[in-house]
Amino acid sequence: MCAIVAHMNLAQPLPFRFDLATLPPEAEAMRAELRAFLAQEIAAIPFEKRARSWSGFNPDFSRKLGERGWLGMTWPKKYGGHERTALERYVVVEELLAAGAPVAAHWVADRQSGPLLLKFGTEAQRQRVLPGIARGETYFAIGMSEPDSGSDLASVRTRATRTAEGWRVNGTKLWSSWAHKAQYMIAVFRTGDNTDQRQMGLSQFLVDLSAPGINIRPIADLTGHEHFNEVVFDNALLPEDALIGAEGQGWAQVTAELAYERSGPERFLSSMALVQQIVEAAGPDPSERVAIAIGRIAARLHALRRLSLSVATQLQRGENPALEASLVKDVGAIFEQEIPDIAHDLFAREPSAASDEGLQRVQHYLTQTAPSFSLRGGTREILRGIIARGLGLR
Ligand SMILES: Cc1cc2nc3c(=O)[nH]c(=O)nc-3n(C[C@H](O)[C@H](O)[C@H](O)COP(=O)(O)OP(=O)(O)OC[C@H]3O[C@@H](n4cnc5c(N)ncnc54)[C@H](O)[C@@H]3O)c2cc1C
Repeated sequence: MCAIVAHMNLAQPLPFRFDLATLPPEAEAMRAELRAFLAQEIAAIPFEKRARSWSGFNPDFSRKLGERGWLGMTWPKKYGGHERTALERYVVVEELLAAGAPVAAHWVADRQSGPLLLKFGTEAQRQRVLPGIARGETYFAIGMSEPDSGSDLASVRTRATRTAEGWRVNGTKLWSSWAHKAQYMIAVFRTGDNTDQRQMGLSQFLVDLSAPGINIRPIADLTGHEHFNEVVFDNALLPEDALIGAEGQGWAQVTAELAYERSGPERFLSSMALVQQIVEAAGPDPSERVAIAIGRIAARLHALRRLSLSVATQLQRGENPALEASLVKDVGAIFEQEIPDIAHDLFAREPSAASDEGLQRVQHYLTQTAPSFSLRGGTREILRGIIARGLGLR
């Protein structure tokens, strides 16, 4: 720590910008309707399934959210959106995640693919997909990682070559969440040969996953749940107008996309189902030790929420808070990952999928999945590298 401080010029203000943000009354006012809806819709979902958080896939549920106007909330009405604020959307997302609602079907599309197309897509691309996303019927996958290219995203090798018929694509994307259920992927491919500046030769594409030459193979995670995939492009042909934004500008566009991906309440609410089980197991009259532990959890949740709300406000203003988003994701993942250990220390119950107790079943699921929280969306080390660069330390 001292070495870090010694490298910092403390006379300079820190580069982070975390203005205090509060939710306006019209955003807070949405909670009652959301909670009534959720109480009805997810009452029958067992605790261990709610623990899947934003990995629970249910197309009917996504469609119902679309009918209520809770998808594409901030987008222009002409694309099926509702012209609400990012802070109103924040409340919707927060309530969905806190309840353990199955949001995976529309998740990527609503969170980042739609906003990316609004920013960089063509009019035709927006009209083709945005209304379906807002209805909760069109789903997207993220095609960034590849075998040997995860953290070092600039090293991607999947290549799109311009031909007379369109773009020919060859290569493999890996870990693409829900690609086996989604209609589209936004993928980053190599289109240029600039080897000195690898970031310069990348472009983003809107990929129709039903195109010939695209083979999708689900991969089971530790729990047996199949949510991510290997996606092989074998001479797949994409139309000329599949390019998103400018050719060769994929890196800047991906960076902007990652700010949407890294800052939301999903970056600290993934273990909420277990927090709720801890409170339940503590009962109305907990021991001092248990009460202190729950108090600490609440205080950390509160601080994380303030940070994440501040990022949402910056996104609302059209800024690119990539640095702040990296910080929220890093500290959020630390919190989420500690919850299974806290539960174990407090109640000394072993995780068990077969238990009658919700606590043990949720513990069982989250103990296995929590390690991935600091991998998906960018690893801890990579985020800290970004933060260090922002602080002028590298
Ligand atoms: C649940 C889940 C869902 C995912 N969904 C998607 C998805 O939908 N789409 C998608 O494109 N990808 C997805 N991913 C992939 C994810 O983005 C990558 O796993 C992640 O970026 C890390 O890449 P990697 O697995 O290749 O690991 P590597 O990059 O090989 O990293 C291995 C280890 O080395 C460390 N490391 C690497 N480089 C450095 C460095 N320069 N300095 C210090 N340490 C370093 C890493 O921090 C890590 O600990 C998902 C991953 C998970 C776990």
